[in-house]
Amino acid sequence: MIRLSDSFANLQSIIDAVPHAIFVKDRTHRIVLLNTSACEFLGHSRATLLGYSDFELFPADQAEIFRAADDHVFQTGEESENEEQLTDGRGCTRHVITRKQMVRLEEVEYLVASVTDITASRVAEAKNHHLSFHDPLTGLPNRSLFEEKLNGCFRNVAEGKHLAVLVLDLDGFKHVNDAYGYVVGDNILRWFAAKVSDLLGPEDVMARIDGDKFAIAMPGIGPSGDATSLASRIVATVRQPFVVDGTTLEFGVGIGIALARDVAIQPDELLRRADRAHHRASAADRLSICYFDAGMDQMIKRRIRIEQELRAAIAGDLIVPCYQPVVSLNGDRIIGFEALARWENESLGQIPSDEFISIAEEAGLIDALSARLLCRACQDASTWPASLFLAFNISPISLRDPTLGLRILGILAKSGFSPHRLELEITESALVDNISVAHTTIDQLRQAGVRIALDDFGTGYATLSQLLSFRLDKIKIDRSFVARLDDSEEGKVIVRAILGLATGFGLTTTAEGIESGEQLAFLKDNGCTEGQGYLFGKAVPASEVDALLNLTPWAVTASAPRMLAAGPMAG
Ligand code: C2E
Ligand code: MG
Ligand code: MG
Repeated sequence: MIRLSDSFANLQSIIDAVPHAIFVKDRTHRIVLLNTSACEFLGHSRATLLGYSDFELFPADQAEIFRAADDHVFQTGEESENEEQLTDGRGCTRHVITRKQMVRLEEVEYLVASVTDITASRVAEAKNHHLSFHDPLTGLPNRSLFEEKLNGCFRNVAEGKHLAVLVLDLDGFKHVNDAYGYVVGDNILRWFAAKVSDLLGPEDVMARIDGDKFAIAMPGIGPSGDATSLASRIVATVRQPFVVDGTTLEFGVGIGIALARDVAIQPDELLRRADRAHHRASAADRLSICYFDAGMDQMIKRRIRIEQELRAAIAGDLIVPCYQPVVSLNGDRIIGFEALARWENESLGQIPSDEFISIAEEAGLIDALSARLLCRACQDASTWPASLFLAFNISPISLRDPTLGLRILGILAKSGFSPHRLELEITESALVDNISVAHTTIDQLRQAGVRIALDDFGTGYATLSQLLSFRLDKIKIDRSFVARLDDSEEGKVIVRAILGLATGFGLTTTAEGIESGEQLAFLKDNGCTEGQGYLFGKAVPASEVDALLNLTPWAVTASAPRMLAAGPMAG
């Protein structure tokens, strides 16, 4: 039994008040004094611990290390401070900082060790570290960690193996998210992440890199077959319907793949290539796999070039509206024109309107472009007979802005063009993207007398009930349905159904893309009231509208349609 000296007896109550564990050992490494926190830490009573050495408390290899550290302090008189992991009296691992120092009391040397428990802060740090490199929703690595791991994967490439990167997303996810809410959306993402993770090999790394976009790195693969096989299995898995709240949902998936066969390519370039290929895959089909090829870089370069030139073209009014006639199928006459934007670029030639419109949308330039086009179109249309309307396309992006209605009415007021002669064409996706703003804008414009037409009907994601909640004036049947009239009975059934629906709701109908007398005859026979298409004429520059109008009476008959020569800007 070790006896405490009088000095120690006085110290006991003082060190018991300290919230860190304190041990005092003599030169034989036995504990001669310890505080209450130390007893709690080691899980034994003071009476048991007095006289113990580290060998009675810790595994032998750990006790050896502690003893060596104690000896160093005794021999040199230097203080020491170490961060270490200990197993406490309850068998739990603790992160501690141990400070040791020698003291001399009544000519006798002792070692005083104080132990600060930092387990809680180390656990919090580890959790933060995990959070900053993982996606909290799916638990997958995030983009930063993926990039780090991708760098690591290049070691295999240096050793002669191939590395594939896949970028994938769920087609239609955004619309489901909008329709069913974020909770369902989150469940779908978790479901997708888990399903795809199950298909991966032990070396593969999957990450959520953005929204519903995921990336997979496949290191050490053989020829590209491995990546194709994984991508095909992902497509097959996603094809299985996902049931939520009793509703069955089906998704598409677009997968872009890029391969590194040598270290000439950088990791970030590989990811960029897979992303490009993904872009193409998503545009192609609901279920598609696409490998990167050099042509995609050309496409991107063209896109960048167009974006650069677009600003100057808008400012210089180089993008102008041309006008495609809209014809009454009953009275065989022109009843209005749809303004279609045309841009003839000096070096790039005629740029297709859907190409530069989508770039303008992505670059945040669509509102500036639309404002200039609408001003110009209102000026042009003011010179036409007052019975003719002007149809103008509104981008889905613009329809998200609550000030759109006011801006359009402002342009009408300034140009003096009557709102009653303006027909705005909007698409289904524009309506469902932001339902409440779209409702307000449409109501505001309709109150002023502007008519609203639903463009490209049948190609979007909107449900019938969503569409019917809007007050629309007209439905424009997409030209893909008109084209199908030629070769399938099914096409006829669809068009008949759309016309019946529109008539039932008192809506006017325009068939887009009429190219043949047969199509025209079928549409007329089934109650379609208006038509547009190359059969009647392509879009012409403002200067040619008069000539077109002078060709009256308009000869819209199945047997002898009057074709118009296309002007230089037509198309
Ligand atoms: P849209 O509004 O559905 O316009 C009809 C498109 O079909 C036009 O293509 C037109 O030239 C084409 N088209 C008309 N008749 C026929 C036909 O008989 N056969 C075939 N194959 N095509 C026909 P365009 O001018 O290339 O425009 C494509 C799309 O770009 C438009 O589709 C519209 O969504 C958008 N767009 C064009 N101009 C503007 C604009 O000023 N603003 C906005 N926001 N979008 C525009
Ligand atoms: Mg249109
Ligand atoms: Mg259309």
